[in-house]
Amino acid sequence: MKKAVKDREEGKEGYDLPLSKKASRFVIIGKDLYKRGFSTPLLKCVSKEEADYVLQELHQEACGLHSGARTMATRVLRAGYYWPTLRTDCTNFVKKCVSCQEHGPLIHPHPHNLQSINSPWPFALWGMDIIGSFPQATGQRKFLLVVVDYFTKWIEAEPLASITARQV
Ligand SMILES: [Zn+2]
Repeated sequence: MKKAVKDREEGKEGYDLPLSKKASRFVIIGKDLYKRGFSTPLLKCVSKEEADYVLQELHQEACGLHSGARTMATRVLRAGYYWPTLRTDCTNFVKKCVSCQEHGPLIHPHPHNLQSINSPWPFALWGMDIIGSFPQATGQRKFLLVVVDYFTKWIEAEPLASITARQV
């Protein structure tokens, strides 16, 4: 890229038009290559080793706060650095961070979309739940069997001494 930028600055039009077009978004200051942005300051282009160091510092060293991949990519840009595989590198780096694996929030999204249960007419479908055990009442009853109709939301409750298939 440096060569393409140099060629362009010297007025030599390269045969590779897409590369020449890309080179217009970069500028060389001193010995370093910088990327021009539309509304951002110049971003210094760094090598692979330097990029690894930047990621390390911004994620877990002096400036580290173990942020997510997207936030980290934004922080790298805000710090003034750029390289082409910035976003994928951030994603891979966060995935490999041991502390993030150990202390990150546990997210348990349901594998499928939730589906509503439709009841076609009153008392066609009932929802049933067992509550207990409560302190013993008369007749050694300590469980409560609650059934709710899906359509009308009618509630029936029955105290039971024990939960057996026959009683339910
Ligand atoms: Zn981390």
